[in-house]
Amino acid sequence: MTTEKPLLDWDQFARLGADIARWGAAYHRTIAERPVRAPLEPGRVAAAFPAAPPEEGAGLDDLLADLDAKVVPGLTHWQHPRFFAYFPANATPPSMLADFVAAILAQQGMLWQTSPASTEIETRMMDWLRQGLGLPDGFQGVIQDSASGATLAAVLVMRERALAWAGNRQGLSGQPRVRIYASDEVHTSVDRAIWIAGIGAENLVRIPTQGPLRSMDPVALRNRIAADRAAGDLPAGVVACVGGTGTGACDDLTAILAVARDEGLYSHVDAAWAGAAMLCPEFRPLWAGIEGADSLVLNPHKWMGVQFDFSAHFLRDPEPLVKTLAIQPEYLRTHGKDGFVNYSEWSVPLGRRFRALKLWFVLKAYGLRGLRAVMRDHVRWSQALAEELRADPRFEIVTEPVLSLFTFALKGADEAAMIDFVTRVNDDGRIYVTQGRTGGRLVVRFQAGSFACTEADVRLAGTVLRDLAG
Ligand code: PLP
Repeated sequence: MTTEKPLLDWDQFARLGADIARWGAAYHRTIAERPVRAPLEPGRVAAAFPAAPPEEGAGLDDLLADLDAKVVPGLTHWQHPRFFAYFPANATPPSMLADFVAAILAQQGMLWQTSPASTEIETRMMDWLRQGLGLPDGFQGVIQDSASGATLAAVLVMRERALAWAGNRQGLSGQPRVRIYASDEVHTSVDRAIWIAGIGAENLVRIPTQGPLRSMDPVALRNRIAADRAAGDLPAGVVACVGGTGTGACDDLTAILAVARDEGLYSHVDAAWAGAAMLCPEFRPLWAGIEGADSLVLNPHKWMGVQFDFSAHFLRDPEPLVKTLAIQPEYLRTHGKDGFVNYSEWSVPLGRRFRALKLWFVLKAYGLRGLRAVMRDHVRWSQALAEELRADPRFEIVTEPVLSLFTFALKGADEAAMIDFVTRVNDDGRIYVTQGRTGGRLVVRFQAGSFACTEADVRLAGTVLRDLAG
């Protein structure tokens, strides 16, 4: 192949890189003036791009104009200070810079030898995080691409451990039914992990919940495990949640993990959202008993300012995970050295980006103290808004705040009126919320979690909700 122009023009890269950084800063400085949710119809963004790829390269000189014209109008602004929908996906400047550096270095950290820096910084950062969260010495962490990926890995361990490591070798045919236990409050990533692991949706056994935090009932869990054993099934694991997606439900880990331990089942805790808040000692009662978990996941890419993708997966003992996932053909062996970790043996993907840089840059910039301050504000402001709505006779708080998440409804509104209300709120553009369902009832979920959010933004949310409540 011959090229007229050099494929790699590092002068242009340096120029454009600086321009993009300036463009990015301007975008973030003006983000609050934009409607939070993209106000356009499906198909508009795609229509701005030709149906066929360019035969000739045209260079990147008009890149920023293209971004402004074709991309920005189609953005829902996740970093907007009044993004109160779903859960946050915060990207702070240090983590953006880290991802830029990671892209430049373009490491593949699948093995220690393929990137000692990526591997060893990952080990160190995960141990910093462990200490920050107050997890016991001995827990070891790995960065996964997503909480879904960590949960899949944990469910595969549950399956393999229960089958005495025969599932990977022989498949599931002819094996007893593998059973996994969870409440209805866990994220749907658990359902998907069960499907992918070949366990089957019918073997995700739902345990009823109880109490104000909607925890699995430990007595019902124990009885169900006993009944399954009596029926010849194979209980394998328990998935608990701390800060469930819908309403922030928290399992009583002390009780639930004790049942798992007594019954010899592997346990995994999904604290994808709420886990970040455990940097603050005063919130740790929500996961009291966590030291009894075999595996747990939290997403610094939600509420810790560490840009997507960064899921922190901690293991009391990595051995069962490695036994389940490690593949060791000759070309993945490192001869002549020991005392290192190959993190690709801890996760489903083989290739690994240099994600540890993001946590390093964020902790270097803000420290644990800076991160705690942001989350404490979110919790306080959100709880104040819940009180404000409670005092207004048009609103009803349906589930009480768990950290910065609560759900509410319009008193007396039927489902159609609630959907109409959520649509009007989101079309208005000043704030963005998500509807949810709890106890069969349609509710509005509110969570404050954007690093750009101020107290005035949460107050404005109250104004918008009251304006549009009718
Ligand atoms: N678990 C919980 C409680 C969640 O809220 C979410 C996503 O919001 C997930 C898991 C999935 O996270 P990820 O996108 O990292 O797979």
